[in-house]
Amino acid sequence: MIYADNAATTKMSEAAVNIMTEVIRDNWGNPSSLYMHGQRAKEVLEKAREDIAELIGASPREIFFTSGGSESDNQAIVSAALLGREKGKKHIISTAFEHHAVLHTLEKLKKDGFEVTLLPVHENGIIIPSEVESAIRDDTCLVTVMHANNEIGTVQPVREIGEICRRKNVIFHTDAVQAVAHIPVNVVSDNIDMMSASAHKFHGPKGVGFLYVKKGIRLSNLIEGGAQERGKRAGTENVPGIAAMARALKDECAVMEKNAAYLIKIRDRLIKGLSEIEHSALNGDPVRRLPGNVNFCFEGIEGEALLLLLDSKGIAASSGSACTSGSLDPSHVLLAIGRVHDVAHGSLRLSIGTDITEEDADYIINSVKEVTAYLRGFSPVWRDLMTGKAEHII
Ligand SMILES: *Cc1c(COP(=O)(O)O)cnc(C)c1O
Repeated sequence: MIYADNAATTKMSEAAVNIMTEVIRDNWGNPSSLYMHGQRAKEVLEKAREDIAELIGASPREIFFTSGGSESDNQAIVSAALLGREKGKKHIISTAFEHHAVLHTLEKLKKDGFEVTLLPVHENGIIIPSEVESAIRDDTCLVTVMHANNEIGTVQPVREIGEICRRKNVIFHTDAVQAVAHIPVNVVSDNIDMMSASAHKFHGPKGVGFLYVKKGIRLSNLIEGGAQERGKRAGTENVPGIAAMARALKDECAVMEKNAAYLIKIRDRLIKGLSEIEHSALNGDPVRRLPGNVNFCFEGIEGEALLLLLDSKGIAASSGSACTSGSLDPSHVLLAIGRVHDVAHGSLRLSIGTDITEEDADYIINSVKEVTAYLRGFSPVWRDLMTGKAEHII
């Protein structure tokens, strides 16, 4: 089986599995306990915090452990909104193609009286910084723009957006779940105030992540209880998961440049091969995208059928995000970059890892060519396009 769905989740690294089992077995104390078991667990916890902080340019006190990307997004956005409300600021700026952890949190805040501006993401899937600047008002309390998109992989001009927010004195949060450990991320040089990350997107375990919060920004609790995480996130810490997350991040950052160079080579081979399919189109900017992301639309194709047939050929891929598959609505990301419903339905996302060889890539290309030809053979939509009853869009 060729696994090309790393944007949904990644396989844990051997090193992360090892440290996780080791901590589960040998270091199972509660970090809040004063005796030896607790203190040893606390050491593991604080070492992980130091390592993670260093890898993203933060200080350890700015790292808060959470249950993953969704919780980090929720907590960051709600906290910034509450800070804003104290000052009478109830306007938030975001984008149309954020992850649902961001979009649904914003929907909830709208019901609480906040006003949300969603910036257009344009055909290439990239936010224009000057449009962020024009959207900022006197009552804007937060700008939240994702670092790299989970479906089309486009990388946003985070540094420029952060610079604008700094100048305008507005909190800048970024959902960097797809970026951390894949492309260089530094909270200082990128002018980031709050940042979400998730371990299972970089070969760490599921159900653990972190939120970076710049010193001086007050975080509000989503979960009330004990005084863990300096009183900002109650609940006994997931010490094994956190230790494994730190290990995975350290290892991935150490080989990031080398991996990216390899992935870009395979990615571009896939893009070139899949472009040969007639009436297909790459989604998102061809260059300003994650090293491992390929996303195409094929006219006259039903994405779900494509996935099932690829699965039968031993290829694990995705059509839109894991959360949207299973629903009949086309991806909000593809609609945001201007794809019409019919075209958006025929999408394929390949998010590759370094285990994929050039031969695997060629096998994927040939399989997609075969399967699209087969499916178009009995597609009424395709027949209409071929007989001129309907017009090609791509
Ligand atoms: C996966 C993902 C999330 C959610 O992270 P979880 O740890 O699964 O909650 C949020 N944002 C983006 C961009 C993601 O890719």
